[in-house]
Amino acid sequence: MAWKTLDEMDLAGKVVLVRVDINVPVENGVVTDATRIEKIVPTLKDIIAEGGKPVLLAHFGRPKGKVVPEMSLKPLVPVLAEKLGCTVKFAEDCVGGPAKAAVAALGTGEVLLLENTRFHAGEEKNDPELSAAMAALGEVYVNDAFSAAHRAHSSTEGIAHILPAAAGRLMEAELKALEAALGDPVRPVTAVVGGAKVSTKLDLLGNLVSKVDNLVIGGGMANTFLVAQGIDVGKSLAEREMAETAREIMTKAVNAGCRIVLPKDVVVAREFKAGAESETVAADACPADAMILDAGPEAVAEISKVFDESKTLIWNGPLGAFEIAPFDTATNAAAQKAAALTKAGLLTSVAGGGDTVAALNKAGVAADFSYISTAGGAFLEWMEGKELPGVAALMK
Ligand code: ADP
Ligand code: MG
Repeated sequence: MAWKTLDEMDLAGKVVLVRVDINVPVENGVVTDATRIEKIVPTLKDIIAEGGKPVLLAHFGRPKGKVVPEMSLKPLVPVLAEKLGCTVKFAEDCVGGPAKAAVAALGTGEVLLLENTRFHAGEEKNDPELSAAMAALGEVYVNDAFSAAHRAHSSTEGIAHILPAAAGRLMEAELKALEAALGDPVRPVTAVVGGAKVSTKLDLLGNLVSKVDNLVIGGGMANTFLVAQGIDVGKSLAEREMAETAREIMTKAVNAGCRIVLPKDVVVAREFKAGAESETVAADACPADAMILDAGPEAVAEISKVFDESKTLIWNGPLGAFEIAPFDTATNAAAQKAAALTKAGLLTSVAGGGDTVAALNKAGVAADFSYISTAGGAFLEWMEGKELPGVAALMK
């Protein structure tokens, strides 16, 4: 790998500053989903096993550079201690006197959690003074927060240039999976891009057409591409002002040798609600008073065939309005197909995006994909081909 990992660092007896994402949902002071905490456990256990002393840097919520008591990380201490099975101490500030004293008092086999980095205005400005104050607390820096790596903040980027820096286990796993999907993938590569709007995924589409062999377009986004071909989509969600942009993407795809797959049939309804009457029609036959809410069975068959012929799949965005049945049908079927191929060892499948992860969970297939990224914005920026500052800073 082009990034340094824990294996290349000398951690024995050293204070290791670890940037983690433990921005977990909390209700009335109680953590309601500890997944993000569970995911950092391997990194911290490895550091402790190597004789290092982990000191955690993390943000929580959006305090916008001010101390907001409701956004303190302190309530997470018991959950961290339970998941790690060791003593977890807390410092009331992530730099300065309280942090230094807590680091000095930290014993081997213990973990120290520092208060919310975003309580300092310098964090999101990547203020060199704040980065230096953080770096002064330890000897090695480890970043295990891929989900925050698209932001150049003091705790995600600035500090990495001051201390010897490496990727934690979670970051390492994410980078490996993403490399396998777009960096140096086994071909043919297929991308599925769905979701609501073309306008929010322009950079993503532009990057993918130059990198993948097949681009399956679904969801409301497909409607815009149908409009771009002169097709009337009735009352469907479509960005009619983006038609020219969609045509440009199609031209770019032709020039790059990327095949674009649009639905040949669609499921339409007059209302978007549970139990609404729906019918399947050809993609160019949406009634004027109806809207396209899902891809049809012929489209699903074509997508399945494309998956059969692919070795690598990268997926962002549902194929239809999956929140309400039966408009989740195409998304479920395509997801199940991808999962089956992955299970059979025939496909490497990587997916990400807030609604995409929800849709794959709903389809019951998330565990069968090669990798599901929960990184949200960072995953999308990576799919857009952008350099993530937090990752770039870990390069050898
Ligand atoms: P992600 O969060 O995975 O990046 P998006 O936010 O781009 O995905 O898209 C998900 C949204 O797109 C869902 O709310 C879904 O209902 C909506 N959507 C998909 N297809 C359609 C459609 N045909 N008409 C309206 N909304 C759609
Ligand atoms: Mg979304």
